[in-house]
Amino acid sequence: MSCVRGLRCKECGRDYPIAAVYVCEFCFGPLEVQYNYEQAAQSMTRDAIAARPRNLWRYRELLPLDGEPTDGLQSGFTPFIRAHNLARELGVRDLYIKNDGVNFPTLSYKDRVVPVAIAKAKELGFDTVGCASTGNLANAVAAHGARAGLRRYIFIPTGLEAGKVMGTLVYQPTLVAVEGNYDDVNRLCSEITNKYHWAFVNVNMRPYYTEGAKTYGFEVGEQLGWRAPDNLVCPVAGGTILPKIWKSFHELERLGLIPSVRTRMFAAQAATCAPVVTAVHRGSDIIPPMKPAPLAESVDTSLRIGNPADGPYVVQAVRQSDGWAEMATNEEIIAAMQLLARTEGIWTETAGGTTLAVAKKLIEQGRIRRDETTVICITGNGLKTLEAVRERLGKPIPIAATLAAFEERVLGA
Ligand SMILES: *Cc1c(COP(=O)(O)O)cnc(C)c1O
Ligand SMILES: [Zn+2]
Repeated sequence: MSCVRGLRCKECGRDYPIAAVYVCEFCFGPLEVQYNYEQAAQSMTRDAIAARPRNLWRYRELLPLDGEPTDGLQSGFTPFIRAHNLARELGVRDLYIKNDGVNFPTLSYKDRVVPVAIAKAKELGFDTVGCASTGNLANAVAAHGARAGLRRYIFIPTGLEAGKVMGTLVYQPTLVAVEGNYDDVNRLCSEITNKYHWAFVNVNMRPYYTEGAKTYGFEVGEQLGWRAPDNLVCPVAGGTILPKIWKSFHELERLGLIPSVRTRMFAAQAATCAPVVTAVHRGSDIIPPMKPAPLAESVDTSLRIGNPADGPYVVQAVRQSDGWAEMATNEEIIAAMQLLARTEGIWTETAGGTTLAVAKKLIEQGRIRRDETTVICITGNGLKTLEAVRERLGKPIPIAATLAAFEERVLGA
């Protein structure tokens, strides 16, 4: 039973059948999956959903598969916690963390989008998958593709953190480090997609890949007790997740699963690469393509995309929802990573540091009101970006294995 109706161009509204296509032939707009919501509403009740397995396929009527899901059966349904300590520190009442830093198996939000893209690629008959990645996507395609038994060609820019590189290599894909930044990698992957019959999860599988990001928002709605928050702060790289969370809340509303959505959407980027924030601040719909600051000056690499494919839709969601966008400096990012660890026991990577630093700024600006419900999107794990904090954490206290040494060196007695 599938509720999928086809693809539609987001810009001119032309319809296309389900296939490995991603841009409109007429206006070059991106294509998006269409659903039969009346049909979905019949089986997607709160009780029915609650009885399903705790994985991302819990909301499968609104995901683009024809058959039974075979991939990512352990992915999604990540922890959602009320962050009392952090709330006290930031001076707000009702604060929540949605933690995809412990998504399975590769510890980022990419464990949602990749299983959907890979399951769809298999339905469409592909035996080879690929991606252009800033690191986390590479990990996810390598791992999920391994389990699915597919050939994998993975492209990253040079200079990524060791954790992301090794966290890809261990699954033994073909890993290619391209000279240049992500935008160069992405351009090359578009050329390869046009020439070879491979499924690039974020190129020709993009309409299906992006739908997987909705599951983050579905879970927030369910885990908050079937409602949408007043505010949500979300990191932006290629611009997939933020507009898809916005869409997911409206889909839940449309199915009658949550009351009407009043959420303000807030976008977070690192100051070293902030094209979407810049567009929001200028009040412009056009994302100025940006060359990111040099790697040596950039703490964050996960969000380092100068020409984000879905950037305009981030701006649209931020504006429609009466939200805003802010950027965080390297210092602010690192301080926020440490703040989250110290207050909530969660070690996030640089993208999470960026998001929390921006949330803090928005609270101080009064754009996030202190008496409202706010969700902070943590999308990746700190173990992958050791480089960011290596010089900041101090060292263990070395002692001899004696009680006297313990008392003298540690207790200072
Ligand atoms: C990919 C990624 C994001 C967001 O990317 P979008 O392309 O905007 O969806 C956020 N955080 C982390 C850790 C990521 O890897
Ligand atoms: Zn079009």
